[in-house]
Amino acid sequence: MSEWPKQIISEVADGIFAVIHGQGEMGVSNATFIVEQGRACVVDTMTFPEMAAQMAQAIERQGAHVDTVLNTHHHVDHMGGNAVFTGARILAHPRSIDAGQKLGFPVAVYEHLMPRFKEHFADLELVIPEPLPDPMPLPQEGEILTFMPAHTAADLAVWFPKSRVLLTGDVGFKGVVPLALNGLVSGWIEALNTLIALKPEVVVPGHGSLGTLEDLLVLRNYFTTIHNLGHEAVQAKLTLRDALAQFDPGPLGKWLESERHAINLERAMKEARGEISRIDLSAPVLSKPLG
Ligand SMILES: [Zn+2]
Repeated sequence: MSEWPKQIISEVADGIFAVIHGQGEMGVSNATFIVEQGRACVVDTMTFPEMAAQMAQAIERQGAHVDTVLNTHHHVDHMGGNAVFTGARILAHPRSIDAGQKLGFPVAVYEHLMPRFKEHFADLELVIPEPLPDPMPLPQEGEILTFMPAHTAADLAVWFPKSRVLLTGDVGFKGVVPLALNGLVSGWIEALNTLIALKPEVVVPGHGSLGTLEDLLVLRNYFTTIHNLGHEAVQAKLTLRDALAQFDPGPLGKWLESERHAINLERAMKEARGEISRIDLSAPVLSKPLG
């Protein structure tokens, strides 16, 4: 590949720098670094060390030393660049580490899902994070919020009450349809409710451009629609295709990665049928749900 996706680094509040990456398409996620008194914490490292290198240089220009890296969840596009920061403590929620170990490193799947970066996966060395201690102090009085499950089995968000900046990890998407393939739609709605209640002023989503509280409301409405339609479709014994024909994505109709609507609705229908739950996100069908 001749060119990596463009990154725009901006200081969204005192010492908090968002790295907005490409358009947020598959494999192109955002990251953030937080600086205070010469110390830096990195939240998510994108898919490849080559992507994270630009952020490492920007941190150096701030005269800061990275001592902590947080991976918000186990997806490769949020931890693939960890190798750039091996001098730091690299941390994730224990459930994300478990999910990552279960997933392994399916190169062929990644090459298929992200053909644009095909030639780079074989050389990627994944640095597995260590379990996040509790409590975990962060620069600029950052607070870690944990959601289990939402987008995945465990998702971290970081909230800065002083500046009202919120890093959502992949609980937040903007301009790119979110993907619930490894998560639970009802859990995702609960996570969004918690984030909305914070009333953030600046939202750094996992994918897409910088946002505000309004963008979280749009996303919650989307998942509420998906959740309700999923339940109605199961009650009416509709197929996914028939249910999808009734689905109106609203403002998300213009967002990238539109094939994800079907995946998300299927996920909601699985949840409605009791095939997945917050206990087991990949449970096989054992029995019909009550009623
Ligand atoms: Zn993700």
